[in-house]
Amino acid sequence: MSKPGKTYLVGAGPGDLGLVTLRARELVERADVLIYDYLCNPELLRWARPGAEKIYVGKSAGNHTLSQDEINALLVKQARAGKIVVRLKGGDPYVFGRGGEEAEVLLEAGLEFEEVPGITSAIAAPAYAGIPVTHRECASSFTVVTGHEDPSKENSALDWKALASDRGTRIFLMGVERLPQITSRLMSEGADPATPVALVRWGTTGRQESVEGTLATIADIVRQRGFKAPAVTIVGNVVKLRRELNWFEHRPLFDKRIVVTRTRSQASALSGQLRELGADVLEIPTIRIVPVAADDLRREQLRLLSGLYDWIVFTSPNAVDIFFEQFFAVHKDIRALGTIQIAAVGPATTARLRALHIESQKQPREFTTEALAAEFSDGEIMGRRFLLPRSNLANPVLSASLREHGGQVTEWVLYETVAETADETGTRERYQLEGADWITFTSSSTVENWHALKLSLQPGARIPKYASIGPVTSAALRKLGYSVDIEAESYTISGLVCRLLNGV
Ligand code: SAH
Repeated sequence: MSKPGKTYLVGAGPGDLGLVTLRARELVERADVLIYDYLCNPELLRWARPGAEKIYVGKSAGNHTLSQDEINALLVKQARAGKIVVRLKGGDPYVFGRGGEEAEVLLEAGLEFEEVPGITSAIAAPAYAGIPVTHRECASSFTVVTGHEDPSKENSALDWKALASDRGTRIFLMGVERLPQITSRLMSEGADPATPVALVRWGTTGRQESVEGTLATIADIVRQRGFKAPAVTIVGNVVKLRRELNWFEHRPLFDKRIVVTRTRSQASALSGQLRELGADVLEIPTIRIVPVAADDLRREQLRLLSGLYDWIVFTSPNAVDIFFEQFFAVHKDIRALGTIQIAAVGPATTARLRALHIESQKQPREFTTEALAAEFSDGEIMGRRFLLPRSNLANPVLSASLREHGGQVTEWVLYETVAETADETGTRERYQLEGADWITFTSSSTVENWHALKLSLQPGARIPKYASIGPVTSAALRKLGYSVDIEAESYTISGLVCRLLNGV
């Protein structure tokens, strides 16, 4: 038998990826097996090393993918097989997370465990809705209560009389379904019907929603709005503070659902800016970059590079990354570039070069390959040797124009763009169910691949509009029969974000 592994019961935080602890991230990166449930942000799984096993054990209300006994057995089995097991739980594992029970099961089986606390939704969801759980003026304590208990039960484990007369903040988890019973019980035990109440669902995420009322009115408001779990219910005067403190829901793109269709590796710049502005971002990559390994011939050319070319023209950040990976597999020193001049199509490509401390000698004012071609005077092209490291789908305009003016052009297909088929985080499914306000396109290949996905929307889903980064992408949209609702004025990610801000 192999040496037993170790299990980490890890708090995954309330939803916002930024609210995960450093320790949690470290363990996710190290795990052999990740066991996670409904309330964990699935984006966390991206930190896992390639090859790590990911097991979803479910539990949206009433929809148990594995029973608690089965989960316990799974934990024991994986640890006995010698694995590093990371059991991720939404919020904090010991706050209504059954973390204590799982720890006991591991101990009984003679297995080692560690617990990593997380930020609980009990505090974070109110905070992101502008509600501090304590405040000198109006609450000197807070109580976190399960909403699972049936308040009409004779021998409830909860002291309803004490909860009703408590002057601090009362926070109910898992309480949406039983809200009418909870509020009437509090009132019948003497709580003031005018006590402010708020509910916050999917707190700290882009899909956060909140509602407000009083003990007397909130159950009806929640029913009328069709407001559903998972939500935290906050009872007490601190709820009033949200009129002033609600920074999260007042950001300009709050309540806007925006789809990002770039590749996983490129999405983060756009998604990050949109999230920062409050948007609910769905990353649905349509394409994936697959580098083409250098063969013997290319390695030989890389070795002789400085004697073979006058210019290298980079038309994407991917080309920079993959080119230099292959370059440094052959050379130890950047000076092997010699006197080769460098051109770049736009700011993202230029930034990637700068990260290597390489300045490009040419960068067009307008960020298209056509404009880049026009940057070269005829005299600069005639008889010169150009290397174009590019993708299998690159726009042929640049090489054609250089050749036309007497340049010698060599093209290297450094990477291929292939359709992304995986939906690991269930984002495509969410899009089909809920729709979106905007779909963003940052290249014509994202348009073509999005079209090829043919994602149909369920009735009631939001109908999206289309946002394009520039004229070439817009043309691709129109060609396939899509409207171009907005187009960036400068053809960059920031330009696109700017237009979205003005357009919504
Ligand atoms: N261990 C978790 C709680 C698990 S019980 C924690 O510490 O947060 C599940 C309940 O947590 C849900 O029914 C809901 O009441 C609450 N919850 C978890 N994440 C939430 C979120 N992002 N927004 C609102 N409520 C959330």
